[in-house]
Amino acid sequence: MTQAATPPPAKKPAGRKKFELDERLLAYKGVWVFIEAERGVVHPVSWELLGEGRKLADKLGVELAGVVMTAPGEQAKQYCAEAFQYGADLCYLIEDPILNNYRNEPFTKGLTDLVNTFQPEILLLGATTLGRDLAGSVATTLQTGLTADCTELNIDMENRSLAATRPTFGGSLLCTIVTLNYRPQMATVRPRVMQLPARDAQRTGRIVPHALGMIETSIITKVLEYIPDNLTDKPQLPFADIIVAGGRGMKRKENFDLIWDLAKVLGAEVGASRPVVQAGWLDLERQVGQSGKTVRPKLYIAAGISGAIQHRVGMEASDVIIAINEDPNAPIFDFATYGIVGNAMQILPALTEVFRQQIATAKLAG
Ligand SMILES: Cc1cc2nc3c(=O)[nH]c(=O)nc-3n(C[C@H](O)[C@H](O)[C@H](O)COP(=O)(O)OP(=O)(O)OC[C@H]3O[C@@H](n4cnc5c(N)ncnc54)[C@H](O)[C@@H]3O)c2cc1C
Repeated sequence: MTQAATPPPAKKPAGRKKFELDERLLAYKGVWVFIEAERGVVHPVSWELLGEGRKLADKLGVELAGVVMTAPGEQAKQYCAEAFQYGADLCYLIEDPILNNYRNEPFTKGLTDLVNTFQPEILLLGATTLGRDLAGSVATTLQTGLTADCTELNIDMENRSLAATRPTFGGSLLCTIVTLNYRPQMATVRPRVMQLPARDAQRTGRIVPHALGMIETSIITKVLEYIPDNLTDKPQLPFADIIVAGGRGMKRKENFDLIWDLAKVLGAEVGASRPVVQAGWLDLERQVGQSGKTVRPKLYIAAGISGAIQHRVGMEASDVIIAINEDPNAPIFDFATYGIVGNAMQILPALTEVFRQQIATAKLAG
């Protein structure tokens, strides 16, 4: 007679040890967004971050604050008013003539002073040239964690910590980073990665003024002259409504005339995948993707682009994606809104002609 073997007692799963924030870190409360402004204009990434910050603050049940640092003047109140309309509950405001032009030293001092005084748990900045410079020095001064170029921000409620997701291993993987033992938790996000929130003209908030406490003679860097980088000639891909992009499937530089023709008819910008830029067919300014620009147009037409993850991360937030590819199994068809299987050299001129006629008819109809 055989007897059923008694099953061994089930092993208890090892489980993750629950992390507990110590008292010192629990004192940090609130989500902050640095409002980046230069020469009277706020960089739109600040408003995009307020949209994300609002969601994080609501999950945590805390306030969302903007940080405005500027020379004294009308613009200071205007930046704060706009920040309220984009979702901030309050703004910390440092007004000082020293802050007229961006310099790392006074901005780092001002922002670290604010953090040490008011203790936010999360601090977000745009991954712009200015934002990257400032975020790095503020994080180093405060000796806290900074996750750069995030593509997603969330809250790990179990640990009450920011879960900041970014590409890693050359963009082939996404990793989520938490900063458990330090506050504030800092992150930067590139322009156009997050959606611009709706603006509510009725929203207001309160302003908390703060002094910079620096004198000009203590700052080593001096701004002698301002030479504008003439952006008007440069492509403005991140803010384009329509982009026609070409990839290696366009075969040679001359074939890009077909891309330019369609872009002209649609009033679009021209974009490219990395091999196109590496081949010297188009400038680096036009590269879309992980190591290029992040775009969010209403319409993205991709011709001869396979849809590799490094390209996808830069354009998948487009409202409508039309992919033209002769390979029906190209990965881009997995996430395109509409797919056209065929030779781009034939399809592009056909599209250009149809759009030309449609636009002409629409103009005639008034
Ligand atoms: C660290 C790192 C960062 C990177 N950053 C970026 C980045 O920012 N942006 C980026 O784009 N890439 C980036 N890459 C490169 C990326 O991995 C891909 O190699 C690249 O996106 C492929 O470009 P492609 O689609 O133009 O070329 P391919 O992958 O070669 O695809 C060409 C496509 O064209 C199609 N095709 C061929 N002939 C025709 C035709 N006549 N008509 C229609 N379709 C045709 C083919 O079927 C194919 O799908 C990066 C890679 C690394 C490792």
